Amino acid sequence: MSNITPQPGILDITLYQGGAAHVPGIANAVKLSSNENPFGPSEAAKDAFRKASYHLHRYPSSDHAELRGAIGEIFGLDPARILCGAGSDELISFLCQAYAGPGDEVIHTEHGFGMYRISALANGATPVEVPERERVTDVDAILGACTDATKLVFIANPNNPTGTMIGEGEVARLAAGLPDHVLLVLDGAYAEYVDGYDGGASLVEARQNVVMTRTFSKLYGLGGLRIGWAYGPDHVISVLARVRGPFNLSSAALAAAEAAVRDTDWAEKCREGNTRWRAWLAEALGEHGVPSDTSLGNFILARFATRAEAEACDEHLKSEGLIVRRVAGYNLPNCLRITVGDEASCRRVAHAVGQFMATAR
Ligand SMILES: *Cc1c(COP(=O)(O)O)cnc(C)c1O
Repeated sequence: MSNITPQPGILDITLYQGGAAHVPGIANAVKLSSNENPFGPSEAAKDAFRKASYHLHRYPSSDHAELRGAIGEIFGLDPARILCGAGSDELISFLCQAYAGPGDEVIHTEHGFGMYRISALANGATPVEVPERERVTDVDAILGACTDATKLVFIANPNNPTGTMIGEGEVARLAAGLPDHVLLVLDGAYAEYVDGYDGGASLVEARQNVVMTRTFSKLYGLGGLRIGWAYGPDHVISVLARVRGPFNLSSAALAAAEAAVRDTDWAEKCREGNTRWRAWLAEALGEHGVPSDTSLGNFILARFATRAEAEACDEHLKSEGLIVRRVAGYNLPNCLRITVGDEASCRRVAHAVGQFMATAR
């Protein structure tokens, strides 16, 4: 017997379920369960990663100056107010660590990304789930849920797993309406997929209560390397800099990310491929009787009549070697989240869903 117990909140965490990568008994299944870039990373990023292998005995940069400089240059941002983390997951964790503890509340939305709740609980804070309106972030509901104890509001825009987003006017209204002790976190994991959208950077420039997070895991195809970045006002970045470990990013990750962000041609090709096949897939599923909201990310949230139907379709897809994501844990039991793959994968998904629906109803 021991009396060794973790901090309050820790045991309330439900372990994060990553997207499955294999189906027992099926070789070469297609993984469409983690919103990964089907085209992979840019050649320049792979070259930079290989070159970095010659210097692995050296500690990495601790100030990430070169990567921050490249991000600043490409996106037109002040590198001094960029902070890099091991994926945006680590940035979410830094934000909770720095701003929320026991007795504090952290707001996330009904179908919001799972790491907000996990990081809040890991730091002893209380996650508060706010309803969405038909799978879309509801600004008034968030404003109405703020209390004296609220410290952070997390929204992903576009959101995962819904694929929906709110317009810049609505985001600005949210930022302006929050009590002055609340920090708004705009998770821009899918911002690059949205034409003409800056992920909230201009709102960060205009205000003191907004921070944006971004990632190299989605459009840039570097999920395996774990690189993300935050952009915020001085006072927030200088707080996060104190929480961040000095060597939180590996030299290989830093080198690959810098090459990736500079390879704007590759990013553009991936964005175009996604836009094209996302529209094709959504239409094909719709024709088979499976609707979805217009998605602005690299995935589609396919809606079925019931939870049983969604699960049966998932089983059928699996038997065809297609791995998609169940999202019952996101309060969406009758839906499946399907990453937009390359042309061949999209055609296989549409065909298999068609087969399933032909017998389902
Ligand atoms: C994928 C995803 C992330 C996590 O990205 P990492 O940078 O790989 O940690 C963050 N937020 C949302 C909404 C995501 O879908």
